[in-house]
Amino acid sequence: MKNNQRVSRMTPEKDDPWIPVGVMGEHTFCKRAGIIEYESNKDDTGEEGIPVKRKFFNILYSINAIKNKMKKSFIQIIIYLCFIAVAVSLYMLHNNILILICLVATACYFLFRNIGQFCYLSYLYIQTLIAASKEPDINKKEPQDINWWSLIHCGFQIAASNEGIKDEKWKVIGRPFRILERGNLRIPVMKKLGQAKLYRQHFSKIAAYCHLLEIAEPGVSSPYGIVLFSNGYSGKSIPNYPGSSKSFHDDLISARKTFRNIKNIKINPPNRKLCYKCHHGRPTSNNWGVTWHSTCGDRFNWIPPHERAREKDLI
Ligand code: SF4
Repeated sequence: MKNNQRVSRMTPEKDDPWIPVGVMGEHTFCKRAGIIEYESNKDDTGEEGIPVKRKFFNILYSINAIKNKMKKSFIQIIIYLCFIAVAVSLYMLHNNILILICLVATACYFLFRNIGQFCYLSYLYIQTLIAASKEPDINKKEPQDINWWSLIHCGFQIAASNEGIKDEKWKVIGRPFRILERGNLRIPVMKKLGQAKLYRQHFSKIAAYCHLLEIAEPGVSSPYGIVLFSNGYSGKSIPNYPGSSKSFHDDLISARKTFRNIKNIKINPPNRKLCYKCHHGRPTSNNWGVTWHSTCGDRFNWIPPHERAREKDLI
């Protein structure tokens, strides 16, 4: 390289670490949160906060998955009904009320659980049927409301990336929650818990995912990304326009600066309002309230002003 050739501000220094998109987003939200996520070495999953795991009423993102689960649930309902019929026949043969109560109670428990699940899946399936196909207008520069099923009806295929997508040049890596594919379009999808509101970090993250998808597959285009809210099917599209790209570039550079000096850097607490609902600051106790800990409290040796810390009179 010629000496007078300008080095892009996005080029990392030799020893700069790789930065996951999720960590960069947390760092934009609060530098302390970024440090906690960075030190935890967690992979980016395209999901913000702590994902809610629901065994029976979980959120499904493909119509086929809903249909398959409905089928499975229906077969189980039939099996438990047959089981109850057999139990009643046994009672008639042996006249043992205790056996009957035990068998029928167990079967009823599973039967009603399956009926509940079947109703829930039917409700989801109806939602997929009534959704009209609609996708965001790519010429608009503002976020637009979207419905997941309306997008799916526009002919997108849902893909999941098992590994992070890398940009070797900028040392940034990210794995969107899902990727919508149609022709040469690649639309990254991420999930956000809590309020249905967008903040700066969501614009940066979507621009980062779009950038990664575009460099991973030359010739594809990512004109916008999707943020799904609170484990549901509604969300917003964020256009991949120069303003979002600039936020991404600035936020990546800022995160690098913090992680470069992570041992010596002194980060003051942010605006206290941020801590009020932050999951890093939520105090928990495993000894009946004798001592309380939070990830942020332990890492930075303080009591974050989380709403739960106030409720428990810790501050
Ligand atoms: S509790 Fe407050 S300081 Fe700690 S990570 Fe959350 S927002 Fe940042």
